[in-house]
Amino acid sequence: MAHQPFASTAQDMLDAVSRFLAAPPEGTPREILDAFSFQGRKSLLPPKLFLETVEQAPIAISITDPKAQILYVNAAFEQLTGYARDEVVGNNESVLSSRSTPTSVYQELWQAIQQRRVWQGKLVNHRKNGEEYLAGLTISPVLDAEERIAYYLGMHRDITEMHRLEQRLKFQTALTEAALDAAPVAVAMLGADRRVLLKNQAYKKLLKDFQNAEPARLFLEALEQQPDFDLNCICKGDCAEQGFTNIEVRIDPPGGTAPRWFACSGVRVSELDEAAENYFKQDSQRCYLLLIANDITAARQRIQEARMNLIRGSMVEQQMNHTMREAISAAIFKLQVPLNIIKAALAIPGNGEDSGLRIVLQQAWETGEDAMAGLQHALPTPKIEQSAVVNLNEILHEVIKLSTETLLSSGVVVDWRPAPVLPPVIGRANALRALFKYLIDNAIAAVTSIPNENREIRLQTAVTGQELHVEIMDNGPGIAADTRLKVFEPFFCGWRQAKGHAGMGLSMAQEIALDHNGGIEIDAHFLGGCRITVCLPLAREGGAHGEYA
Ligand code: FAD
Repeated sequence: MAHQPFASTAQDMLDAVSRFLAAPPEGTPREILDAFSFQGRKSLLPPKLFLETVEQAPIAISITDPKAQILYVNAAFEQLTGYARDEVVGNNESVLSSRSTPTSVYQELWQAIQQRRVWQGKLVNHRKNGEEYLAGLTISPVLDAEERIAYYLGMHRDITEMHRLEQRLKFQTALTEAALDAAPVAVAMLGADRRVLLKNQAYKKLLKDFQNAEPARLFLEALEQQPDFDLNCICKGDCAEQGFTNIEVRIDPPGGTAPRWFACSGVRVSELDEAAENYFKQDSQRCYLLLIANDITAARQRIQEARMNLIRGSMVEQQMNHTMREAISAAIFKLQVPLNIIKAALAIPGNGEDSGLRIVLQQAWETGEDAMAGLQHALPTPKIEQSAVVNLNEILHEVIKLSTETLLSSGVVVDWRPAPVLPPVIGRANALRALFKYLIDNAIAAVTSIPNENREIRLQTAVTGQELHVEIMDNGPGIAADTRLKVFEPFFCGWRQAKGHAGMGLSMAQEIALDHNGGIEIDAHFLGGCRITVCLPLAREGGAHGEYA
Protein backbone atom coordinates (compact mmCIF):
# COMPACT_ATOMS: atom_id res chain seq x y z
CA MET A 1 0.00 0.00 0.00
CA ALA A 2 1.55 3.29 -1.07
CA HIS A 3 1.94 5.95 1.53
CA GLN A 4 3.14 9.56 1.48
CA PRO A 5 4.63 10.35 4.91
CA PHE A 6 4.77 14.05 4.26
CA ALA A 7 1.32 14.41 2.81
CA SER A 8 -1.80 15.28 4.86
CA THR A 9 -1.37 13.79 8.44
CA ALA A 10 2.38 13.37 8.23
CA GLN A 11 3.11 16.93 9.31
CA ASP A 12 0.77 16.60 12.34
CA MET A 13 2.35 13.31 13.29
CA LEU A 14 5.89 14.62 13.08
CA ASP A 15 4.93 17.66 15.11
CA ALA A 16 3.29 15.50 17.77
CA VAL A 17 6.25 13.14 18.02
CA SER A 18 8.64 16.06 18.00
CA ARG A 19 6.70 17.69 20.85
CA PHE A 20 6.69 14.40 22.72
CA LEU A 21 10.45 14.10 22.42
CA ALA A 22 11.12 17.70 23.33
CA ALA A 23 9.30 17.23 26.65
CA PRO A 24 9.18 13.46 27.17
CA PRO A 25 6.65 12.23 29.74
CA GLU A 26 8.01 10.90 32.99
CA GLY A 27 9.15 7.29 32.66
CA THR A 28 10.06 7.54 28.96
CA PRO A 29 12.92 5.05 28.54
CA ARG A 30 16.32 6.58 28.02
CA GLU A 31 16.84 4.49 24.88
CA ILE A 32 13.95 6.28 23.09
CA LEU A 33 15.58 9.62 23.73
CA ASP A 34 18.97 8.20 22.81
CA ALA A 35 17.62 6.81 19.54
CA PHE A 36 16.34 10.21 18.51
CA SER A 37 19.37 12.00 19.95
CA PHE A 38 17.05 14.66 21.28
CA GLN A 39 18.28 14.69 24.87
CA GLY A 40 17.69 17.99 26.55
CA ARG A 41 16.24 19.58 23.44
CA LYS A 42 13.37 21.88 24.27
CA SER A 43 12.54 23.35 20.87
CA LEU A 44 10.88 21.45 18.02
CA LEU A 45 13.10 20.12 15.30
CA PRO A 46 12.29 21.13 11.73
CA PRO A 47 10.34 18.21 10.12
CA LYS A 48 13.07 17.47 7.60
CA LEU A 49 15.78 17.23 10.25
CA PHE A 50 13.49 15.20 12.48
CA LEU A 51 12.83 12.72 9.71
CA GLU A 52 16.52 12.43 8.92
CA THR A 53 17.32 11.69 12.57
CA VAL A 54 14.59 9.05 12.85
CA GLU A 55 15.48 7.59 9.48
CA GLN A 56 19.10 7.10 10.44
CA ALA A 57 18.42 5.82 13.96
CA PRO A 58 20.01 2.37 14.35
CA ILE A 59 16.88 0.89 15.93
CA ALA A 60 13.61 -0.17 14.21
CA ILE A 61 11.13 2.68 14.73
CA SER A 62 7.47 2.73 13.82
CA ILE A 63 4.74 5.29 14.43
CA THR A 64 1.15 4.09 14.49
CA ASP A 65 -2.29 5.53 15.01
CA PRO A 66 -4.16 4.63 18.26
CA LYS A 67 -5.28 1.33 16.68
CA ALA A 68 -1.72 0.28 15.83
CA GLN A 69 -2.15 1.03 12.11
CA ILE A 70 1.35 1.76 10.87
CA LEU A 71 1.86 5.33 9.61
CA TYR A 72 5.62 5.40 9.36
CA VAL A 73 8.59 3.04 9.66
CA ASN A 74 12.26 3.92 9.40
CA ALA A 75 15.07 2.31 7.42
CA ALA A 76 16.23 0.15 10.35
CA PHE A 77 12.66 -1.27 10.57
CA GLU A 78 12.77 -2.23 6.89
CA GLN A 79 16.14 -3.83 7.33
CA LEU A 80 15.19 -5.79 10.44
CA THR A 81 11.77 -7.05 9.29
CA GLY A 82 12.53 -7.45 5.60
CA TYR A 83 9.34 -5.51 4.77
CA ALA A 84 9.64 -2.48 2.52
CA ARG A 85 8.00 0.61 3.94
CA ASP A 86 5.21 0.49 1.35
CA GLU A 87 4.37 -3.07 2.30
CA VAL A 88 3.59 -2.31 5.95
CA VAL A 89 2.34 1.27 6.10
CA GLY A 90 -1.43 1.13 6.51
CA ASN A 91 -1.26 -2.35 8.08
CA ASN A 92 -1.58 -3.22 11.76
CA GLU A 93 1.63 -3.94 13.67
CA SER A 94 0.23 -7.46 14.06
CA VAL A 95 1.65 -8.08 10.62
CA LEU A 96 4.87 -8.83 12.52
CA SER A 97 3.24 -11.23 15.00
CA SER A 98 4.46 -14.81 14.68
CA ARG A 99 1.43 -16.07 16.63
CA SER A 100 3.70 -17.61 19.29
CA THR A 101 3.28 -14.73 21.72
CA PRO A 102 0.54 -15.54 24.28
CA THR A 103 -2.57 -13.31 24.09
CA SER A 104 -2.06 -12.34 27.73
CA VAL A 105 1.14 -10.50 26.73
CA TYR A 106 -0.77 -8.41 24.15
CA GLN A 107 -3.53 -7.76 26.68
CA GLU A 108 -0.98 -6.47 29.17
CA LEU A 109 0.68 -4.37 26.41
CA TRP A 110 -2.58 -2.73 25.39
CA GLN A 111 -3.71 -2.19 28.96
CA ALA A 112 -0.48 -0.27 29.65
CA ILE A 113 -0.36 1.90 26.54
CA GLN A 114 -4.08 2.71 26.65
CA GLN A 115 -3.53 3.97 30.18
CA ARG A 116 -0.80 6.21 28.69
CA ARG A 117 1.99 4.23 30.25
CA VAL A 118 5.13 3.15 28.47
CA TRP A 119 5.28 -0.60 27.82
CA GLN A 120 8.49 -2.57 27.56
CA GLY A 121 8.66 -6.27 26.87
CA LYS A 122 9.46 -9.10 24.52
CA LEU A 123 7.38 -10.42 21.60
CA VAL A 124 8.03 -13.17 19.09
CA ASN A 125 7.99 -11.58 15.60
CA HIS A 126 8.61 -12.93 12.16
CA ARG A 127 10.32 -11.31 9.23
CA LYS A 128 8.86 -11.16 5.78
CA ASN A 129 10.73 -14.36 4.91
CA GLY A 130 8.99 -16.15 7.82
CA GLU A 131 12.08 -16.29 10.01
CA GLU A 132 11.17 -15.77 13.64
CA TYR A 133 13.05 -13.46 15.97
CA LEU A 134 12.67 -12.21 19.50
CA ALA A 135 11.86 -8.49 19.57
CA GLY A 136 12.72 -6.29 22.51
CA LEU A 137 9.96 -3.70 22.15
CA THR A 138 9.20 -0.34 23.77
CA ILE A 139 5.91 1.45 23.02
CA SER A 140 5.29 5.03 24.15
CA PRO A 141 1.94 6.77 23.76
CA VAL A 142 2.19 10.20 22.05
CA LEU A 143 -0.50 12.66 23.13
CA ASP A 144 -2.07 15.50 21.11
CA ALA A 145 -2.66 19.04 22.37
CA GLU A 146 -5.88 17.86 24.14
CA GLU A 147 -3.94 15.12 25.95
CA ARG A 148 -5.61 12.37 23.92
CA ILE A 149 -3.58 9.48 22.57
CA ALA A 150 -2.74 10.56 19.05
CA TYR A 151 -0.04 8.09 18.10
CA TYR A 152 2.07 5.26 19.42
CA LEU A 153 5.80 5.32 19.03
CA GLY A 154 7.25 1.82 18.76
CA MET A 155 10.89 0.87 18.88
CA HIS A 156 12.26 -2.61 18.71
CA ARG A 157 15.46 -4.52 18.16
CA ASP A 158 16.32 -8.13 17.48
CA ILE A 159 17.39 -9.61 20.82
CA THR A 160 17.39 -13.24 19.65
CA GLU A 161 21.17 -13.58 19.96
CA MET A 162 21.22 -11.94 23.38
CA HIS A 163 18.44 -14.26 24.51
CA ARG A 164 20.34 -17.24 23.11
CA LEU A 165 23.45 -16.19 25.02
CA GLU A 166 21.42 -15.65 28.16
CA GLN A 167 19.88 -19.10 27.83
CA ARG A 168 23.27 -20.63 27.18
CA LEU A 169 24.68 -18.87 30.21
CA LYS A 170 21.76 -20.01 32.35
CA PHE A 171 22.24 -23.55 31.09
CA GLN A 172 25.95 -23.45 31.74
CA THR A 173 25.43 -22.03 35.21
CA ALA A 174 22.86 -24.75 35.93
CA LEU A 175 25.25 -27.36 34.51
CA THR A 176 28.17 -26.06 36.60
CA GLU A 177 26.01 -25.95 39.71
CA ALA A 178 24.71 -29.48 39.09
CA ALA A 179 28.26 -30.75 38.54
CA LEU A 180 29.49 -28.96 41.64
CA ASP A 181 26.57 -30.23 43.69
CA ALA A 182 27.24 -33.79 42.61
CA ALA A 183 30.90 -33.49 43.63
CA PRO A 184 31.68 -35.20 46.94
CA VAL A 185 34.11 -32.44 47.90
CA ALA A 186 33.19 -29.04 49.33
CA VAL A 187 33.64 -26.33 46.72
CA ALA A 188 33.30 -22.58 47.21
CA MET A 189 34.13 -19.60 45.03
CA LEU A 190 35.48 -16.68 47.06
CA GLY A 191 35.68 -13.04 46.03
CA ALA A 192 38.72 -10.85 46.64
CA ASP A 193 37.12 -9.82 49.96
CA ARG A 194 37.01 -13.52 50.90
CA ARG A 195 33.24 -13.60 50.80
CA VAL A 196 31.68 -16.83 49.55
CA LEU A 197 29.98 -16.16 46.19
CA LEU A 198 29.10 -19.69 45.22
CA LYS A 199 28.95 -22.93 47.19
CA ASN A 200 27.97 -26.50 46.48
CA GLN A 201 25.86 -28.93 48.52
CA ALA A 202 28.87 -30.53 50.25
CA TYR A 203 29.99 -27.06 51.36
CA LYS A 204 26.50 -26.23 52.67
CA LYS A 205 26.58 -29.46 54.67
CA LEU A 206 29.92 -28.45 56.18
CA LEU A 207 28.44 -25.09 57.13
CA LYS A 208 25.80 -26.99 59.10
CA ASP A 209 28.40 -29.30 60.67
CA PHE A 210 30.43 -26.25 61.74
CA GLN A 211 27.36 -24.67 63.38
CA ASN A 212 27.28 -21.89 60.75
CA ALA A 213 30.92 -20.90 61.23
CA GLU A 214 31.98 -20.16 57.61
CA PRO A 215 34.11 -23.17 56.55
CA ALA A 216 36.05 -21.10 53.98
CA ARG A 217 37.14 -18.69 56.71
CA LEU A 218 38.37 -21.56 58.88
CA PHE A 219 40.15 -23.21 55.94
CA LEU A 220 41.93 -19.99 54.97
CA GLU A 221 42.86 -19.33 58.61
CA ALA A 222 44.36 -22.82 58.89
CA LEU A 223 46.08 -22.55 55.49
CA GLU A 224 47.62 -19.21 56.36
CA GLN A 225 49.27 -20.82 59.36
CA GLN A 226 51.22 -23.10 57.07
CA PRO A 227 54.77 -21.92 56.45
CA ASP A 228 55.29 -20.34 53.02
CA PHE A 229 51.56 -20.08 52.29
CA ASP A 230 50.74 -16.62 50.93
CA LEU A 231 47.17 -16.22 49.74
CA ASN A 232 47.58 -12.55 48.82
CA CYS A 233 50.44 -13.41 46.53
CA ILE A 234 48.35 -16.12 44.84
CA CYS A 235 45.36 -13.84 44.43
CA LYS A 236 47.35 -10.90 43.09
CA GLY A 237 48.98 -13.24 40.57
CA ASP A 238 52.42 -12.25 41.89
CA CYS A 239 53.36 -15.86 42.64
CA ALA A 240 54.65 -18.38 40.15
CA GLU A 241 51.83 -20.72 41.19
CA GLN A 242 48.24 -20.10 40.20
CA GLY A 243 47.05 -21.96 43.28
CA PHE A 244 47.87 -24.68 45.78
CA THR A 245 47.17 -28.38 45.96
CA ASN A 246 46.23 -30.81 48.72
CA ILE A 247 47.40 -28.90 51.74
CA GLU A 248 46.14 -30.81 54.76
CA VAL A 249 44.53 -28.78 57.52
CA ARG A 250 42.96 -29.72 60.81
CA ILE A 251 39.73 -28.07 61.92
CA ASP A 252 38.27 -28.49 65.39
CA PRO A 253 34.59 -27.77 64.72
CA PRO A 254 32.78 -25.46 67.12
CA GLY A 255 30.78 -27.50 69.62
CA GLY A 256 33.66 -29.77 70.60
CA THR A 257 32.90 -32.55 68.10
CA ALA A 258 35.70 -34.74 66.79
CA PRO A 259 38.41 -32.97 64.79
CA ARG A 260 38.11 -33.02 61.00
CA TRP A 261 40.86 -33.13 58.43
CA PHE A 262 40.68 -31.66 54.95
CA ALA A 263 42.99 -31.68 51.96
CA CYS A 264 42.58 -28.18 50.56
CA SER A 265 43.29 -27.07 47.03
CA GLY A 266 42.74 -23.66 45.51
CA VAL A 267 42.87 -22.17 42.06
CA ARG A 268 43.08 -18.51 41.20
CA VAL A 269 40.34 -17.61 38.74
CA SER A 270 40.50 -14.22 37.07
CA GLU A 271 37.64 -12.55 35.32
CA LEU A 272 38.08 -9.65 32.94
CA ASP A 273 36.58 -6.60 34.59
CA GLU A 274 33.29 -5.75 32.92
CA ALA A 275 33.01 -2.29 34.49
CA ALA A 276 32.57 0.35 31.75
CA GLU A 277 35.39 2.54 33.06
CA ASN A 278 37.82 -0.37 32.63
CA TYR A 279 36.83 -1.10 29.01
CA PHE A 280 40.15 0.07 27.59
CA LYS A 281 42.22 -1.44 30.39
CA GLN A 282 42.49 -4.94 28.97
CA ASP A 283 44.60 -6.19 31.88
CA SER A 284 42.12 -5.05 34.48
CA GLN A 285 41.05 -8.27 36.18
CA ARG A 286 39.03 -9.42 39.11
CA CYS A 287 40.41 -12.30 41.11
CA TYR A 288 38.42 -15.13 42.60
CA LEU A 289 39.58 -18.17 44.48
CA LEU A 290 38.05 -21.55 43.80
CA LEU A 291 38.51 -23.41 47.06
CA ILE A 292 38.15 -27.19 47.13
CA ALA A 293 38.19 -29.06 50.44
CA ASN A 294 38.28 -32.82 50.46
CA ASP A 295 37.28 -34.39 53.77
CA ILE A 296 40.05 -36.87 54.62
CA THR A 297 38.99 -37.37 58.23
CA ALA A 298 38.32 -41.10 57.82
CA ALA A 299 41.76 -41.76 56.35
CA ARG A 300 43.36 -39.55 58.98
CA GLN A 301 41.48 -41.35 61.75
CA ARG A 302 42.95 -44.66 60.62
CA ILE A 303 46.44 -43.18 60.70
CA GLN A 304 45.60 -41.55 64.02
CA GLU A 305 44.52 -44.90 65.51
CA ALA A 306 47.85 -46.43 64.59
CA ARG A 307 49.60 -43.35 65.95
CA MET A 308 47.61 -43.58 69.19
CA ASN A 309 48.85 -47.14 69.71
CA LEU A 310 52.42 -45.94 69.30
CA ILE A 311 51.77 -43.01 71.62
CA ARG A 312 50.18 -45.33 74.18
CA GLY A 313 53.27 -47.56 74.08
CA SER A 314 55.68 -44.68 74.40
CA MET A 315 53.58 -43.08 77.16
CA VAL A 316 53.73 -46.32 79.19
CA GLU A 317 57.50 -46.40 78.73
CA GLN A 318 57.73 -42.73 79.57
CA GLN A 319 55.53 -43.23 82.63
CA MET A 320 57.71 -46.08 83.87
CA ASN A 321 60.75 -43.96 83.27
CA HIS A 322 59.23 -41.11 85.21
CA THR A 323 58.10 -43.35 88.05
CA MET A 324 61.61 -44.71 88.36
CA ARG A 325 63.09 -41.25 88.20
CA GLU A 326 60.59 -40.08 90.80
CA ALA A 327 61.39 -43.00 93.14
CA ILE A 328 65.16 -42.72 92.73
CA SER A 329 65.06 -38.92 92.97
CA ALA A 330 63.02 -39.27 96.17
CA ALA A 331 65.57 -41.74 97.56
CA ILE A 332 68.46 -39.41 96.61
CA PHE A 333 66.59 -36.50 98.18
CA LYS A 334 65.94 -38.46 101.38
CA LEU A 335 69.49 -39.89 101.57
CA GLN A 336 71.03 -36.48 101.06
CA VAL A 337 69.64 -35.31 104.44
CA PRO A 338 71.47 -37.82 106.73
CA LEU A 339 74.58 -37.57 104.56
CA ASN A 340 74.61 -33.82 105.03
CA ILE A 341 74.28 -34.34 108.82
CA ILE A 342 77.16 -36.83 108.85
CA LYS A 343 79.24 -34.45 106.76
CA ALA A 344 78.49 -31.66 109.21
CA ALA A 345 79.38 -33.89 112.20
CA LEU A 346 82.68 -34.85 110.58
CA ALA A 347 83.48 -31.20 110.10
CA ILE A 348 83.09 -30.46 113.84
CA PRO A 349 86.62 -30.01 115.29
CA GLY A 350 87.61 -31.70 118.57
CA ASN A 351 87.22 -35.34 117.81
CA GLY A 352 90.54 -37.07 117.45
CA GLU A 353 91.39 -38.15 113.92
CA ASP A 354 91.11 -41.79 114.83
CA SER A 355 88.43 -41.65 117.53
CA GLY A 356 85.94 -44.54 117.24
CA LEU A 357 82.97 -42.26 116.50
CA ARG A 358 84.78 -40.39 113.77
CA ILE A 359 85.81 -43.65 112.12
CA VAL A 360 82.18 -44.90 112.20
CA LEU A 361 80.92 -41.59 110.85
CA GLN A 362 83.54 -41.59 108.11
CA GLN A 363 82.53 -45.14 107.13
CA ALA A 364 78.84 -44.23 107.20
CA TRP A 365 79.51 -41.17 105.01
CA GLU A 366 81.55 -43.15 102.50
CA THR A 367 78.92 -45.91 102.32
CA GLY A 368 76.26 -43.25 101.90
CA GLU A 369 78.27 -41.57 99.13
CA ASP A 370 78.65 -44.95 97.40
CA ALA A 371 74.91 -45.57 97.68
CA MET A 372 74.28 -42.05 96.36
CA ALA A 373 76.57 -42.64 93.39
CA GLY A 374 74.81 -45.97 92.75
CA LEU A 375 71.41 -44.26 92.82
CA GLN A 376 72.63 -41.44 90.54
CA HIS A 377 73.88 -44.10 88.20
CA ALA A 378 70.57 -45.93 88.31
CA LEU A 379 68.64 -42.77 87.39
CA PRO A 380 67.26 -43.50 83.91
CA THR A 381 68.53 -40.94 81.44
CA PRO A 382 65.64 -39.03 79.92
CA LYS A 383 65.20 -39.68 76.19
CA ILE A 384 66.34 -36.80 74.01
CA GLU A 385 63.38 -35.69 71.94
CA GLN A 386 63.58 -33.40 68.93
CA SER A 387 61.44 -30.26 68.80
CA ALA A 388 58.94 -30.03 65.98
CA VAL A 389 55.87 -28.06 64.89
CA VAL A 390 53.08 -29.22 67.19
CA ASN A 391 49.35 -28.61 67.26
CA LEU A 392 48.18 -28.45 70.86
CA ASN A 393 44.57 -29.29 69.98
CA GLU A 394 45.91 -32.53 68.60
CA ILE A 395 48.07 -33.21 71.66
CA LEU A 396 45.18 -32.50 74.04
CA HIS A 397 42.81 -34.62 72.02
CA GLU A 398 45.29 -37.50 72.21
CA VAL A 399 45.69 -37.09 75.97
CA ILE A 400 41.89 -37.11 76.42
CA LYS A 401 41.78 -40.31 74.37
CA LEU A 402 44.52 -41.84 76.51
CA SER A 403 42.51 -40.99 79.61
CA THR A 404 39.15 -42.18 78.22
CA GLU A 405 39.01 -45.31 80.36
CA THR A 406 39.75 -43.48 83.61
CA LEU A 407 37.29 -40.72 82.71
CA LEU A 408 34.51 -43.21 81.96
CA SER A 409 35.12 -45.36 85.02
CA SER A 410 35.14 -42.34 87.32
CA GLY A 411 32.11 -40.74 85.67
CA VAL A 412 33.92 -37.54 84.69
CA VAL A 413 32.50 -35.51 81.81
CA VAL A 414 34.99 -33.63 79.66
CA ASP A 415 33.82 -30.36 78.12
CA TRP A 416 36.29 -29.93 75.27
CA ARG A 417 36.33 -26.42 73.78
CA PRO A 418 39.17 -26.14 71.29
CA ALA A 419 39.86 -23.04 69.20
CA PRO A 420 38.61 -24.13 65.74
CA VAL A 421 41.96 -23.33 64.20
CA LEU A 422 45.04 -23.27 66.39
CA PRO A 423 48.42 -21.90 65.32
CA PRO A 424 51.32 -24.28 65.93
CA VAL A 425 53.86 -24.19 68.73
CA ILE A 426 57.37 -25.56 68.55
CA GLY A 427 57.75 -28.30 71.09
CA ARG A 428 58.56 -31.83 72.05
CA ALA A 429 55.33 -33.72 71.48
CA ASN A 430 55.96 -36.47 74.04
CA ALA A 431 56.97 -34.01 76.73
CA LEU A 432 53.91 -31.84 76.04
CA ARG A 433 51.69 -34.92 76.12
CA ALA A 434 53.19 -35.78 79.51
CA LEU A 435 52.61 -32.20 80.72
CA PHE A 436 48.90 -32.30 79.90
CA LYS A 437 48.56 -35.87 81.13
CA TYR A 438 49.85 -34.73 84.57
CA LEU A 439 47.37 -31.87 84.64
CA ILE A 440 44.41 -33.93 83.42
CA ASP A 441 45.24 -36.76 85.83
CA ASN A 442 45.33 -34.16 88.61
CA ALA A 443 41.96 -32.76 87.50
CA ILE A 444 40.46 -36.28 87.50
CA ALA A 445 41.94 -36.92 90.96
CA ALA A 446 40.50 -33.58 92.16
CA VAL A 447 36.93 -34.12 90.93
CA THR A 448 36.85 -37.65 92.29
CA SER A 449 38.34 -36.65 95.65
CA ILE A 450 35.09 -35.13 96.92
CA PRO A 451 31.47 -36.26 96.74
CA ASN A 452 30.18 -34.66 93.56
CA GLU A 453 27.28 -35.65 91.31
CA ASN A 454 28.47 -33.67 88.29
CA ARG A 455 32.13 -34.35 87.89
CA GLU A 456 33.31 -32.08 85.12
CA ILE A 457 36.58 -31.08 83.53
CA ARG A 458 36.70 -28.31 80.94
CA LEU A 459 39.55 -27.99 78.50
CA GLN A 460 39.86 -24.87 76.40
CA THR A 461 42.44 -23.61 73.93
CA ALA A 462 42.77 -20.02 72.75
CA VAL A 463 45.30 -17.59 71.32
CA THR A 464 46.03 -14.37 73.19
CA GLY A 465 48.55 -12.11 71.46
CA GLN A 466 51.65 -14.13 70.75
CA GLU A 467 50.77 -16.82 73.29
CA LEU A 468 48.70 -19.90 73.22
CA HIS A 469 46.68 -20.62 76.35
CA VAL A 470 45.38 -23.98 77.45
CA GLU A 471 42.96 -23.84 80.35
CA ILE A 472 42.20 -26.91 82.43
CA MET A 473 39.29 -26.39 84.79
CA ASP A 474 37.74 -28.83 87.21
CA ASN A 475 34.94 -28.64 89.73
CA GLY A 476 36.93 -30.37 92.46
CA PRO A 477 37.88 -28.87 95.87
CA GLY A 478 40.32 -26.32 94.37
CA ILE A 479 43.77 -25.44 95.70
CA ALA A 480 43.94 -23.44 98.94
CA ALA A 481 45.65 -20.05 98.66
CA ASP A 482 48.47 -21.00 101.04
CA THR A 483 49.49 -24.04 99.00
CA ARG A 484 49.32 -22.48 95.53
CA LEU A 485 53.09 -22.07 95.35
CA LYS A 486 53.98 -25.19 97.30
CA VAL A 487 52.15 -27.49 94.87
CA PHE A 488 54.93 -26.89 92.34
CA GLU A 489 57.61 -28.10 94.79
CA PRO A 490 58.96 -31.60 94.19
CA PHE A 491 57.46 -34.26 96.47
CA PHE A 492 54.76 -31.95 97.77
CA CYS A 493 51.53 -33.90 98.13
CA GLY A 494 48.37 -32.08 99.08
CA TRP A 495 45.89 -34.88 98.29
CA ARG A 496 43.79 -36.08 101.21
CA GLN A 497 44.61 -39.60 100.19
CA ALA A 498 48.30 -39.28 99.45
CA LYS A 499 48.88 -42.97 98.70
CA GLY A 500 50.06 -43.49 95.13
CA HIS A 501 51.00 -39.83 94.66
CA ALA A 502 54.70 -39.00 94.66
CA GLY A 503 54.03 -35.27 94.46
CA MET A 504 56.14 -34.83 91.35
CA GLY A 505 53.42 -34.23 88.72
CA LEU A 506 53.09 -30.44 88.92
CA SER A 507 56.81 -29.88 89.36
CA MET A 508 57.50 -31.96 86.25
CA ALA A 509 54.70 -30.24 84.33
CA GLN A 510 56.16 -26.88 85.26
CA GLU A 511 59.61 -28.00 84.23
CA ILE A 512 58.29 -29.02 80.80
CA ALA A 513 56.41 -25.73 80.39
CA LEU A 514 59.51 -23.70 81.38
CA ASP A 515 61.59 -25.77 79.02
CA HIS A 516 59.23 -24.65 76.23
CA ASN A 517 59.62 -20.98 77.22
CA GLY A 518 56.17 -21.08 78.75
CA GLY A 519 54.66 -21.31 82.19
CA ILE A 520 51.85 -22.67 84.35
CA GLU A 521 49.57 -20.51 86.48
CA ILE A 522 46.87 -21.31 88.98
CA ASP A 523 43.97 -18.88 88.78
CA ALA A 524 43.60 -17.45 92.29
CA HIS A 525 40.15 -16.01 91.51
CA PHE A 526 38.58 -19.16 90.16
CA LEU A 527 35.83 -20.32 92.48
CA GLY A 528 34.27 -23.74 92.81
CA GLY A 529 37.26 -25.74 91.65
CA CYS A 530 40.62 -25.19 90.07
CA ARG A 531 41.69 -23.46 86.87
CA ILE A 532 45.19 -24.05 85.62
CA THR A 533 46.48 -22.16 82.59
CA VAL A 534 49.41 -23.33 80.54
CA CYS A 535 50.93 -20.58 78.38
CA LEU A 536 53.22 -21.44 75.50
CA PRO A 537 54.74 -19.09 72.91
CA LEU A 538 53.41 -19.37 69.36
CA ALA A 539 55.76 -20.62 66.69
CA ARG A 540 57.26 -17.81 64.64
CA GLU A 541 59.06 -18.08 61.37
CA GLY A 542 62.82 -17.66 61.73
CA GLY A 543 64.60 -20.21 63.89
CA ALA A 544 65.63 -20.75 67.51
CA HIS A 545 63.24 -21.81 70.28
CA GLY A 546 59.55 -21.25 69.66
CA GLU A 547 60.28 -20.53 66.02
CA TYR A 548 60.15 -22.45 62.79
CA ALA A 549 63.52 -23.96 62.03
P1 FAD B 1 -5.42 -9.56 18.40
O1 FAD B 1 -6.55 -10.51 18.55
O2 FAD B 1 -5.55 -8.46 17.44
O3 FAD B 1 -5.02 -8.98 19.78
C1 FAD B 1 -4.69 -9.80 20.91
C2 FAD B 1 -5.12 -9.07 22.14
O4 FAD B 1 -4.52 -7.78 22.16
C3 FAD B 1 -6.60 -8.78 22.15
O5 FAD B 1 -7.33 -9.84 22.74
C4 FAD B 1 -6.70 -7.50 22.92
O6 FAD B 1 -6.75 -7.79 24.27
C5 FAD B 1 -5.41 -6.78 22.62
N1 FAD B 1 -5.61 -5.77 21.57
C6 FAD B 1 -5.25 -5.91 20.28
N2 FAD B 1 -5.54 -4.76 19.63
C7 FAD B 1 -6.06 -3.92 20.50
C8 FAD B 1 -6.51 -2.58 20.44
N3 FAD B 1 -6.49 -1.90 19.33
N4 FAD B 1 -6.99 -2.04 21.57
C9 FAD B 1 -7.03 -2.73 22.73
N5 FAD B 1 -6.58 -3.98 22.85
C10 FAD B 1 -6.11 -4.58 21.76
N6 FAD B 1 2.67 -6.89 17.93
C11 FAD B 1 3.55 -7.79 17.53
O7 FAD B 1 3.27 -8.99 17.51
N7 FAD B 1 4.82 -7.40 17.15
C12 FAD B 1 5.20 -6.09 17.15
O8 FAD B 1 6.35 -5.80 16.83
C13 FAD B 1 4.26 -5.13 17.57
N8 FAD B 1 4.60 -3.82 17.59
C14 FAD B 1 3.65 -2.89 17.98
C15 FAD B 1 4.00 -1.52 17.96
C16 FAD B 1 3.05 -0.56 18.36
C17 FAD B 1 3.45 0.91 18.30
C18 FAD B 1 1.77 -0.97 18.77
C19 FAD B 1 0.79 0.09 19.21
C20 FAD B 1 1.42 -2.33 18.78
C21 FAD B 1 2.34 -3.29 18.38
N9 FAD B 1 2.02 -4.65 18.39
C22 FAD B 1 2.96 -5.56 17.96
C23 FAD B 1 0.74 -5.14 18.88
C24 FAD B 1 -0.19 -5.41 17.71
O9 FAD B 1 -0.80 -4.23 17.34
C25 FAD B 1 -1.20 -6.48 18.03
O10 FAD B 1 -1.97 -6.09 19.13
C26 FAD B 1 -0.61 -7.83 18.31
O11 FAD B 1 0.26 -8.17 17.26
C27 FAD B 1 -1.68 -8.90 18.44
O12 FAD B 1 -2.41 -8.98 17.31
P2 FAD B 1 -3.22 -10.25 16.89
O13 FAD B 1 -3.89 -10.00 15.61
O14 FAD B 1 -2.35 -11.45 17.00
O15 FAD B 1 -4.25 -10.44 18.05
